[in-house]
Parts: sequence; C-alpha cells; structure tokens
Amino acid sequence: MKVNKFVGAHVSAAGGVFNAPLNAQKIGARAFALFTKNQRQWRARALKEEEIKKFKENLKKVGISPEHVLPHDSYLINLGSPEPEKRRKSLQAFIEEVERCYQLGLKYLNFHPGSSLGKVSEEECLKIVADSLNEALSRTKGVILVIENTAGQGSSVGYRFEHIARIIELVEDKSRIGVCLDTCHLFAAGYDIRTQEAYEKTMKEFDEIVGFKYLKGMHLNDAKSELGSRVDRHHSIGKGNIGLEAFRFIMNDERLNEIPLILETIDPSIWKEEIELLYSLIEE
Ligand code: MN
Ligand code: MN
Ligand code: ZN
Repeated sequence: MKVNKFVGAHVSAAGGVFNAPLNAQKIGARAFALFTKNQRQWRARALKEEEIKKFKENLKKVGISPEHVLPHDSYLINLGSPEPEKRRKSLQAFIEEVERCYQLGLKYLNFHPGSSLGKVSEEECLKIVADSLNEALSRTKGVILVIENTAGQGSSVGYRFEHIARIIELVEDKSRIGVCLDTCHLFAAGYDIRTQEAYEKTMKEFDEIVGFKYLKGMHLNDAKSELGSRVDRHHSIGKGNIGLEAFRFIMNDERLNEIPLILETIDPSIWKEEIELLYSLIEE
C-alpha cells in the first residue's frame, strides 16, 4: 500500500462559510476544518440557500471532497454538563450544528466530549455525553459525530482512550460515531509519540481500546506543554515538545490514509510551509 495523505488546516470562514474552501486552497491544503458559525456565540442565523450553493461550488472548484472536511463545533457546547439547563442549551446548539453540516453536504462534525465541572464523576459525565449523542443522533440524519480526544485540562473528560471507548459503547447508532485524534492532546494526556517505539505503542493501545475503524480524522499539532501535563497548548510543527519525528511516523502510517489531517497550530502565516514540510516527510 502507498501512503495517500490529506493534510490541511482549520481555516477561516470569515465573510461566509463559502470562503473556507478558498482559504484552504491558498495554503495548498487537500483537507480543511472550519466553524460553520461564530464559535463564541450560542445562536446563528440559518444558512441561506445562496451560501450553501456557493460553499458546494467552491468545494468542487478547489477539488476537495466532503470526506476531507472536518467541521468543528462551538467551544461553548458541553454535552456532558451535569447542569440540566446548560446541557439542554448545549444539545440544542449541537443539533443545529449537525443540521448545518448536513445542509452543506458534509459528512462529519468534530466535537469535544464535555466537562464534568467537578460536580459529577467522570463515568457519570461520560453517560451524560452519550445520552446527549443518542438524542442528537435520533433527531438528525447523515452526519457522523466525531469525538475528539482531549488534553484532560480542567474537568474535561475524553483524555483516556477508555473514555472514548465508553462513550461509543453507550451510543446506540455506532454507524454515526467517529473519533479524531489530536496529537497535542494525546501528548498532554500522557500518550508519548516521540519515538517509533512510543508511537507504535500509543497507536496499538488506541486500536485495542477504541479501534482504527472509528478514526475519521486527526489534528496535527505540536505541543508547548509537557508530556502528561494535561495542559492544552498547541505549537507549530517541529517547534514544540513533541518534535518533528512524530509527524514523520504519522505521514508514513498507512492506517492514516484518506482521512483529514488538520493543523490547528498557532501561526496561520506558516500553514502553507507546514503543509509542505509534512508532505516532504513521506518516504517513498
Ligand atoms: Mn478541538
Ligand atoms: Mn484539536
Ligand atoms: Zn487543543
């Protein structure tokens, strides 16, 4: 098998979602992530037919297929909130985001599982997340909900593979659930990927506990934070504590073919160079 990688970045959708594919093209991306609404606000006006049409046209124009687009939900949403009012508000906003993705012809919605706010156990929080997902799945169609592993900062859950496996176990429609692995979050959560041996060990553990069949995307970020620090601080590729070698393992790993590999690194002005750097790591 040959490697076939789809690298991109979380690009701006300022001025309208239809600008995101064009912004991806400018940096030589073969994949991208975007917010389909302002990520710091709860509500957004509905997408207009005209905007949806333009988005689909631009996607086609730049030659990126919907499977290589990994939309990210709002940072305000907490599907695992132990506070019923906050959870209800989160679920409503999340469902609207799933619908927006569906309208745009996209296949995925990437989200962070949630946070216990220190008020319930992690297990209790994971159950609330799964309940939220089951309700969101029953009220929407088409889109696969992609759980992102977290750094474990604060009281957020999802920093252990076991947490992700537990959510999946509790989700009824497993055909519409996926996983996104963020390298910075992996590292901050204590999963080492800096040497070939450490990388293989982490990936083997992921496969055994969660399973590669659920992996729908990755976030490629170096880390300013330390291994196991549970601090979420991204850095540019090769400039942080993870280092460039880990990204060589990723770029040559055939299990990671065909899925969107998205930069969320701190300096958008060098994304084009970072994408070129990543492709240069492929050994043929
Ligand atoms: Mn994220
Ligand atoms: Mn991420
Ligand atoms: Zn992060």
